[in-house]
Amino acid sequence: MSDLHALFGGTFDPVHFGHLRPVEALAQQTGLARVLLLPNNVPPHRPQPEASPTQRVEMLRCAIEDRPLFAIDTRELQRDTPSWTVATLEALRAERGPQQPLAFIIGQDSLLNLSGWHRWQDLLSFAHLLVCKRPGYPAEMGSPEMQRWLETHLARDVAQLHQQPAGAIWLADTPLVDISATEIRRRRRAGLSCDSLLPAAVIDYIDRTGLYLK
Ligand code: ATP
Repeated sequence: MSDLHALFGGTFDPVHFGHLRPVEALAQQTGLARVLLLPNNVPPHRPQPEASPTQRVEMLRCAIEDRPLFAIDTRELQRDTPSWTVATLEALRAERGPQQPLAFIIGQDSLLNLSGWHRWQDLLSFAHLLVCKRPGYPAEMGSPEMQRWLETHLARDVAQLHQQPAGAIWLADTPLVDISATEIRRRRRAGLSCDSLLPAAVIDYIDRTGLYLK
């Protein structure tokens, strides 16, 4: 199999098992060699993360210390302005050359919103899209045009993800994990345990720094 690498973007405020478990299952299914976690720089007009960029990266570091599949890519945080995903993928493609198979991982909720993303139709020229299930989100796209677009690009089989550098969509059969960062922040403010929702090392970090109490 080829060296299929993937980027997984998110706010990660904080990273949780809803991010890690589906992606670990996806990696098993598709033979992903590496997943680069890509913390986003959130645009000023959007609600800002509660944790600082440094804290979000530290939480990712804690989460992956015993998970060799993952590494962290901080390129979007190193710029002053928020980056479009398509621009990040374009830059990664330029670094890796035209032949290396690359993928971008999203949850089903993000797939349903895809037509709102900047230059969304160009995403597939730089990478494959790998989609994890997420409880509570329909399998069908919101419009017949988007459903047609999806079906046109569905991968025939896993081998296609390794043989082609980009261009296919893989709807992965990943476990349904009903966790969101919003719910974790809410539980923390309410003084409720988050033990089974995110790695213990991340909980320790959150406890040490007093995050999400306000
Ligand atoms: P928030 O609750 O703050 O909006 P979130 O938990 O949705 O955050 P993000 O960091 O915004 O997490 O998500 C990054 C990516 O992870 C998105 O593509 C999203 O679809 C996916 N994702 C997040 N939670 C899950 C989950 N429980 N199952 C599958 N995918 C998920």
